[in-house]
Amino acid sequence: MLTVRNLELHYGGIAALRGISIDVQKGETVLLVGANGAGKSSLINAVIGLVASSQGVMSFNGKDITRASCDARARAGIGYSPEGRRVFPTMSVRDNVLSGACRRGAVLQRDAWQWLCGIFPLLSERSEHPAGQLSGGQQQVVAIARAMASSPKLLLLDEPFLGLAPVWIARISEAIRHMQSRGTTILMTEQMARPALKLATRGYVVRGGEIRRSGSIEEIREVALAEEYL
Ligand code: ATP
Repeated sequence: MLTVRNLELHYGGIAALRGISIDVQKGETVLLVGANGAGKSSLINAVIGLVASSQGVMSFNGKDITRASCDARARAGIGYSPEGRRVFPTMSVRDNVLSGACRRGAVLQRDAWQWLCGIFPLLSERSEHPAGQLSGGQQQVVAIARAMASSPKLLLLDEPFLGLAPVWIARISEAIRHMQSRGTTILMTEQMARPALKLATRGYVVRGGEIRRSGSIEEIREVALAEEYL
């Protein structure tokens, strides 16, 4: 579904990605694990089109997306939840979530909202609250629900569990399992990999802007353990 070949990305003179290649097949949940500054967010941001690569090729469902706009990638079915609980702070919880479904018709938006409220009761309880007034865990739920509301074919989750209490980790894990059971393909990153290892089917270890290892989730768990990502 997603193919990335020899991707290079620079911020000014700093090389953040140095010839990265990954594949994500339909229906998989693939984990990118690595320390702070390894290049995980840069790779996710390159896939959604927020940053431009200097070299390399990316394709999604057989179409070259290397120079496609963010908007075109979203329309093609790539959804994105950024690192760090980025919500629209003054917009209500409901409007935040539905902004993810804004291209869908009113009926589909209502269905998406009801489906997400079933997974996260918090959304209906706080639907008219400004999202910026919620706790960190609650804001992360809103950001993930917004990405899910677009019913993406490929869902990019950048550090969905970072800094969250166990109760929120459990809820978000449950929502990710829902997306998996609907056939959604997922590419996620984690610095502290423990909860993500329970969800992913395969993974890559990223270090210094390169893929250092790829393998089954059991192999990635071993590396994560040795390199203290757990
Ligand atoms: P983290 O978990 O901290 O987000 P990461 O693995 O996602 O780490 P990146 O954020 O992709 O790593 O960073 C990769 C490298 O690029 C780091 O050296 C970082 O300092 C650098 N970098 C990231 N964003 C920028 C930016 N906007 N401008 C300059 N350098 C950046």
